[in-house]
Amino acid sequence: AKENGGGSVSLYSDGDIEHAEELFGLERDLTAAVKNDEIEMYLQGQFNGRGDLIGAEALARWLHPSDGMIPPDKFVSIAERSDLIIQLDRKMLQHAASCLANWQAKDLNYTLSVNISPRYFRSKQLKAELEAMFAAANANLRGLVLEVTERLFIDDMHDVIKQMSTISKLGVQFALDDFGTGYSSLAYLQRLPIHELKIDKSFTQGLPKNQRAVSMVNMITAIARNLELRIVAEGIETSAQAEYCEDQHIIIQGYYFDRPQPQDKWNRKWLK
Ligand code: C2E
Ligand code: CA
Ligand code: CA
Ligand code: CA
Repeated sequence: AKENGGGSVSLYSDGDIEHAEELFGLERDLTAAVKNDEIEMYLQGQFNGRGDLIGAEALARWLHPSDGMIPPDKFVSIAERSDLIIQLDRKMLQHAASCLANWQAKDLNYTLSVNISPRYFRSKQLKAELEAMFAAANANLRGLVLEVTERLFIDDMHDVIKQMSTISKLGVQFALDDFGTGYSSLAYLQRLPIHELKIDKSFTQGLPKNQRAVSMVNMITAIARNLELRIVAEGIETSAQAEYCEDQHIIIQGYYFDRPQPQDKWNRKWLK
């Protein structure tokens, strides 16, 4: 691998044998990490237009015994090459179930959003596993939001809609993540049983000055409103960006209000 400017090692710098070996090594280490519970759940709060906390997104972190904390950009795509991603996403759902059980026992009705890769979403076991995991943790599935991306829709839409409808009946909600960055077709949107659109940070970071960013966010917001979907903006870092979202009644997720942090630390901060 090559050192990039920041001094960190970039995984995708060359396409040589060394690169393949590194990927293989990483895949092997990650397999062990998932088994050994080195995958931790970080939480980042979501806030409504009045600045009230309404929920959180669960974000995976790999706590490597010698390399320290590894962010998902470095390992999710490797996990997605095989069923390893199913094991990883399943671990995150288990963390989420026990977290929601804790909130619900305190009568807090915050939602918890979990990222689900296409491979796990499509699998036949997902519904039964959700029910089993939440029953075991004594958690209500009504607090759960599953975040899926447009990558799902390159396959058979019919199966995707069927799976979503079946799982929705458990009380689980669906969010369409990174909306507008992938394969976007407005035609499918009206057919999907989803509850939320998430605006990617590539759109929100130009707010409020960049006219193209404003146009994109306004367009996505208009679509979501027409379809009566909740709207969450990612990557809100400044007071001006937060104000823009508050004025538009867009739910805010970003460093401005809350940075992702380990769940115990997050709970201490937000559940007084
Ligand atoms: P995502 O689902 O789009 O998650 C939002 C990303 O934006 C997170 O990056 C979050 O830390 C980051 N973020 C939040 N607020 C701000 C901000 O104000 N400024 C900036 N610059 N960034 C902000 P993170 O945690 O590195 O996760 C990257 C991606 O990895 C996620 O993007 C998601 O696609 C994937 N991912 C994370 N956890 C899981 C998981 O458990 N399962 C799966 N399948 N994918 C995951
Ligand atoms: Ca997400
Ligand atoms: Ca994403
Ligand atoms: Ca995103």
